[in-house]
Amino acid sequence: MTAVEVLQKHFGYDNFRYGQDELINDILEGKDVLGIMPTGAGKSICFQVPTMMLNGVTIVVSPLISLMMDQVDALNQSGIPAAFINSTLSERQMEKALQNAENGAYKLIYVAPERLMSQEFLYFCRVAQIPLVAVDEAHCISQWGQDFRPAYTAIPNFVAQLQQRPVIAAFTATATPRVKDDILSKLNLKSPSVMISGFDRPNLSFDVSHPPAKGRALASFLSGKDQHASGIIYCTTRKDVERVHENILGLGYSATRYHAGLDDSERAKNQEDFLHDRKPIMVATNAFGMGIDKSNVSFVVHYNMPKDIEAYYQEAGRAGRDGGTAECLMFYADSDYATHMFFIEETRETISGEETTAKIYRLNQMRSYCHSHKCLRGHILEYFGENPDDNCGNCGNCSAEFEEVDITLDAQKIISCVARMENKRQTFGLGIIIDVLRGKDGDKIRQWRLNRLPTFGITQTTKVRLAEIASHLVLEGFLIKTTDRYPVLKLGKRAYEIKNSDFHLTMRGRKPTVTATEETVDTALLEALKALRLDLAKVNNLPAYTIFHNTTLLDMCTRKPTNIKEFLLIDGIGQVKADKYGAVFLEAIAKYSR
Ligand code: ADP
Ligand code: ZN
Repeated sequence: MTAVEVLQKHFGYDNFRYGQDELINDILEGKDVLGIMPTGAGKSICFQVPTMMLNGVTIVVSPLISLMMDQVDALNQSGIPAAFINSTLSERQMEKALQNAENGAYKLIYVAPERLMSQEFLYFCRVAQIPLVAVDEAHCISQWGQDFRPAYTAIPNFVAQLQQRPVIAAFTATATPRVKDDILSKLNLKSPSVMISGFDRPNLSFDVSHPPAKGRALASFLSGKDQHASGIIYCTTRKDVERVHENILGLGYSATRYHAGLDDSERAKNQEDFLHDRKPIMVATNAFGMGIDKSNVSFVVHYNMPKDIEAYYQEAGRAGRDGGTAECLMFYADSDYATHMFFIEETRETISGEETTAKIYRLNQMRSYCHSHKCLRGHILEYFGENPDDNCGNCGNCSAEFEEVDITLDAQKIISCVARMENKRQTFGLGIIIDVLRGKDGDKIRQWRLNRLPTFGITQTTKVRLAEIASHLVLEGFLIKTTDRYPVLKLGKRAYEIKNSDFHLTMRGRKPTVTATEETVDTALLEALKALRLDLAKVNNLPAYTIFHNTTLLDMCTRKPTNIKEFLLIDGIGQVKADKYGAVFLEAIAKYSR
């Protein structure tokens, strides 16, 4: 039988997916392989199919008991004899399994890494015919990976005990180039072929924003969505889940929540409500999503930056499973970075130094994604070792216009403010520094006599802008942001440069889409639209802002749409709202324009 015939006969699939057949051919030719494919791509087929074409029994090293049991179940269901050896078996059961194995009863044996070197198991393996050892979740062998598992490092030792060296096939969904090299060397793979495939999800669009007020940004994002659209909003902490959940309920959305602080029955119920679209929006911590396969999720918002790109891509990847267009948006704030640093510091004592370094490295990679001006999809795919195009045309950066702004003056002001504070042996967080620069009076300012600093009140630049510039200064090494729970700013290595007479600094950023404010638009029109909104709110018995946000009204005043097509381009208007309210608002605008 050929490999395809085995696939059809034993697994009931017509064709191989991209990457599977190459890996299988290599294994059958006796080559070691490393397959790097995202979750759900079909890694197991890659060792199960060749197993059916080779004499003897394949040993599968697998780290998760539940995963192992599922696979063994599934294999037995399709008539392929398989068993597992792990800590759930009693001594008797284990003996029995190994006895069956000796009699050639199984084609595959799944084993937990900790059992590999046990006497009984080794005894069996030394005499058995083992053509293939498959290592699932191979990144567990690397301290640079997400879930380092010390027992994995015994695998080469185990292999060395066998009569004949088997082919080794390693698989993982998460391998940065660094982890990949670690797998290749630690597993001792012999001139292996490495296959990286299928990480791209073209139907997902990616974007990052740095909103000064995340709550408002979320409201504005949701108001542009279809009312029944299903989505997930991920927050780092339970507290944020509760807060965000409450806020969006207040906005009139149908949402539920999920985190480890809820009891089992409530979690199960909320999950069901979400899966069956009774409540199409889920607000959750990263505890939510494992094993969830809801195909119509059309957006995933990260209210906070997650700990690494692996986690981000896995969570964002829950959008658009049906192949339809879906949006993945992340709200970044420097405090997200600080939160993760705090978690890392907390575990520093319990893990190796190398592991801590690796965590920080991955966190920094995640942050650089959030500050990137290049293609966001490309950033992710490169991280996973692929070679993407420069421009995907479907991410925030590929569709934005950029500009280079001169920030010399404000940079000098911020840095000298920090310098003045350090001179007085004081350090402060960004919020206070901005207040000082803008000359804001307050208790803390007076308490520390910051209003006497020469840098008090020396700029009119907005808070948001100053925060952006400060963040840029940190990235560029002019300032250091400490990694405490409440981070403070200090002078960085390059701070002295501002004294050079030719000091000049620019910052590249997305061109702002001109944002209207109450002051810049036509007041009479705005008032008319607000009155109309209030009427509609009363008639429908809804809070006014659930009809349109102020920002949406402001955008209407700026653009003055004349037809429904133009109306749909307004910030915060989707098809449903256009259908409901488009006509009356267009009429009001037309009347005003006349
Ligand atoms: P992974 O281990 O990569 O996360 P699995 O091996 O569990 O993925 O496979 C994911 C799903 O895809 C399973 O339901 C599997 O049966 C299915 N699958 C794998 N290969 C194919 C294929 N060639 N054609 C259709 N379905 C496949
Ligand atoms: Zn792009």
